[in-house]
Amino acid sequence: MTVEAFMEASNAYYYATRDPLGIEGDFTTAPEISQMFGELVGAALADCWRRAGSPNDAIFVELGPGRGTLAADALRMMRSAGFRGEIHLVETSPVLRDRQRTVVPDALWHESIDDLPARPLLLVANEFLDALPVRQHVGGIDRRVVIAGGGLAFDRDGEIVETSPLRDEAVGSIATCVALKGGAALLIDYGHERSAPGDTLQAVKRHGFASILSAPGEQDITAHVDFEAVSVAVRNAGAETTPLVTQGEWLIRLGIEARAQSLSRANPDRSEDIQASLDRLTSRDQMGTLFKVIGVHSRDWPAPAGFQ
Ligand code: SAH
Repeated sequence: MTVEAFMEASNAYYYATRDPLGIEGDFTTAPEISQMFGELVGAALADCWRRAGSPNDAIFVELGPGRGTLAADALRMMRSAGFRGEIHLVETSPVLRDRQRTVVPDALWHESIDDLPARPLLLVANEFLDALPVRQHVGGIDRRVVIAGGGLAFDRDGEIVETSPLRDEAVGSIATCVALKGGAALLIDYGHERSAPGDTLQAVKRHGFASILSAPGEQDITAHVDFEAVSVAVRNAGAETTPLVTQGEWLIRLGIEARAQSLSRANPDRSEDIQASLDRLTSRDQMGTLFKVIGVHSRDWPAPAGFQ
């Protein structure tokens, strides 16, 4: 099978059969590190919504919400800013839907982005695009996973070029809806600013790297997001992008340092933890530079804050 089919099948089984997040799981994401992450996402979306005239048909959407932590933290901020719209979550995993239901009980769930209603979107996707399958090409030929010597192996090596038609399609659907109905989207992931050759496929198990082919369906397989391809897909659909910024820069511009200070004042016994989370989310040697954020908006909506 192609690398794309392998990654798709492996991740579909992996996410359908477990909650992979947290210390007990395989990896930890930004919203699981601190409530500040989701709160600032919510603040950025609410601010954009207000500057667009607070349309009352706008909906909150999250793609791949994991445990629902980001949605719950973001919605707390958005509700306090007056947003009363519906909550729509795109999630294929029944196990994770159950977790999400405990923290965002009034949400509506969808299997696919294409099932979302055509309404102005206030959308966030954190570590969602990296889980969508990539194709790998070697000398123009689709790289495949084959059975060899009783195990799995790649059929060819050499200079690898990755593309992701499924990711382009997902981004294109969001951007089409935004272009037609208005709205703003925040896409947050690890990845690179310019398309370039390279093998970025990786597998993670119990908070460490694993061999990609060793345990299909039992470990998380991701690939870096090519943000140049994302921008092209957005513009082809008729929507606008913001500049790409690092997660660290973006969170600092949105005021994460002030938020950390006020949380520490309110919870002095947790102030060391709060400082450590701030550092983990923003500093160069942690998530601050590897992770990047791009905003998507329609021509008649303002750009979300934090990108200029
Ligand atoms: N955004 C969360 C979780 C990231 S893990 C966080 O930041 O903590 C990836 C999430 O995407 C999981 O919820 C997984 O079930 C979901 N997912 C993966 N592939 C998907 C697909 N093709 N369609 C919908 N959801 C998907």
